Amino acid sequence: MLAAIKRGTRIVCDEIADPVPGEGQVLVRTRACGICGSDLHALHHAETVARLYRAGGVENVIDPEADCVFGHEFSAEILDFGPKAARRFKPGTLVTSVPRVADQSGAHVVGYSSRFPGGYAERMLLTEELLLEVPNGLSAVEAALTEPFAVGEHAVAAADLADAGGAVVVGCGPVGLAVIAALKARGFGPVVAADFAPGRRALAEAMGADQVVDPASDSPHTRWQDFGVPATRAERARIIADGGKPGRPLIFECVGVPGVIQAIADAAPAKPQIVVVGVCMESDRFDPGISIAKEAEYRFVLGYSADEFAATLRNIAEGRIRAAQIVTREIGIQGVADAFADLAAPGAEAKVMIVPGAG
Ligand SMILES: [Zn+2]
Repeated sequence: MLAAIKRGTRIVCDEIADPVPGEGQVLVRTRACGICGSDLHALHHAETVARLYRAGGVENVIDPEADCVFGHEFSAEILDFGPKAARRFKPGTLVTSVPRVADQSGAHVVGYSSRFPGGYAERMLLTEELLLEVPNGLSAVEAALTEPFAVGEHAVAAADLADAGGAVVVGCGPVGLAVIAALKARGFGPVVAADFAPGRRALAEAMGADQVVDPASDSPHTRWQDFGVPATRAERARIIADGGKPGRPLIFECVGVPGVIQAIADAAPAKPQIVVVGVCMESDRFDPGISIAKEAEYRFVLGYSADEFAATLRNIAEGRIRAAQIVTREIGIQGVADAFADLAAPGAEAKVMIVPGAG
């Protein structure tokens, strides 16, 4: 079968052996698969990705020296079952799944495994138990967006929305857009989204952001006063003493580069909830004093639960999240190497979707 393979620090398009399903596994045909920022990073820093997964308790991680077929944001069609399968779905059924597949050695991350190919290949093995049937006639591309949008659902679930007087989302790449979508799917507002790229600001608006800000000319934090969020702890104490209930600032860090957490701490009003969703894979430094003075509360989050994944699929299928809007391009497997080169320079692209057989 055809696959776009990580070989060293290059993406090459080549034929590889068709996978054969073992016990509990299902052979599927990839219908759509998103290119993730983590994939771009893993091409050059596979050992960092491996370290991150190991820290999260996943043992079978990518071998930086071996070939790897990326792709953890996918939808697929059932082709065949391994031995002793329950055969819950008919061949041809469109499914999606959290990117995990198990064998005798335990769980593997589909898309960061040197043993199991991910969605950059024409076929994959998945675990039958984890499959979700795609409902409501949702397209393969929309269903493949469940994974990146589930990241937003998880981040929002980590926040205390009842206390928040509004939310600022810093960074409107796929992660920030997923956070905006999850906030708006719950009817939460106001949501202020900030990004330097005009294309990404337009997508933030399409996801339902109430206000969008270009940080080059305006700070998203100038709006807090309008939302009834006091700037200082003293002001907050005064409002409470007068019997009021001031909202807290809620800020999502969705950039993932060094310096952003400190910049948020510097700009935030008192008592901020800061949810760090952007995956920064380098060392960063920050000044604890500022966060202490403001009594900042930090949550660092990664991934999603199986329930959050399923809830996200329902949100997309029932129109609460209009996921397809973030897809800026569809390509075939042959186009992956070029797409990686384009995505390396942040620009107008948001989600590039591989549709095997297209392009
Ligand atoms: Zn991803």
